[in-house]
Amino acid sequence: MTPFSLEGRRALVTGANTGIGQAIAISLAAQGAQVTCAGRRDCAQTIAAIRDAGGEAEGLRLDLADPMAGQGVFEGQGYSILVNNAGIIRREDSLDFTEADWDAVMDVNLKALFFTTQAFARAALEGGTTPAAVVNIASLLSFQGGIRVPSYTASKHGVAGLTKILANEWAAKGINVNAIAPGYIATNNTEALRADGARNAAILERIPAGRWGEPHDIGATAAFLCSPAARYIHGAVLNVDGGWLAR
Ligand code: NAP
Repeated sequence: MTPFSLEGRRALVTGANTGIGQAIAISLAAQGAQVTCAGRRDCAQTIAAIRDAGGEAEGLRLDLADPMAGQGVFEGQGYSILVNNAGIIRREDSLDFTEADWDAVMDVNLKALFFTTQAFARAALEGGTTPAAVVNIASLLSFQGGIRVPSYTASKHGVAGLTKILANEWAAKGINVNAIAPGYIATNNTEALRADGARNAAILERIPAGRWGEPHDIGATAAFLCSPAARYIHGAVLNVDGGWLAR
């Protein structure tokens, strides 16, 4: 086995039906993990892609609009990998931003992430499935302010903070907690930006790599962070952004 192998590991990925979550599920399975593809919708496409490649996957309905939905999912199930990928964004001027848009984004992106991770860690420690790994999907807006997305920026700054505190508390217990801050990745989330010629050109002009990221760029990084090769990495928020933040 290479230090990058995930053979014998059981993993759960939230929001695994599409985009970055789908690519993460496929990358973990390609390294040998048995992957639970969790989504508020059916993850059939992801499961089929994994099985077609010879991997192991199953689906689970999990709607994280209820931040406590992950309770009871992990106990006694042998999970040693959790990827918190599910996320939403709401755009509006901060002067007009509503409480509903604040709560919806904070519930999925931050509160559900914390309580799902708590349930996972309790089960891993009680069940002895350590070493274990948590990977949170953060954002460039874990570092930058953005514009017209106040709850998204607050939530993603929060994801970076939670990544660090949970790493502090759990590193010695055998749980690695890290995050990935994706740059501009070609998914449903960013379709409108790519369709806007002027915005698309401005974004590409600033990315040293000269291209949008692909979901598998994030998938491969997540697989690495869950593997024995990353065992001494704790509390990192790793930019996978084609160099955007280096500019
Ligand atoms: P996406 O294609 O819109 O995927 C978002 C995923 O989250 C979908 O699977 C979505 O399910 C799921 N989700 C949303 N609300 C949910 C809920 N209540 N319960 C369970 N799952 C829910 O966008 P993406 O770009 O792949 O985003 C994935 C993550 O990367 C997010 O955390 C996002 O903030 C982050 N990110 C993306 C970029 C980028 O450039 N694309 C950059 C930085 C960070 P449905 O399909 O059912 O809506």
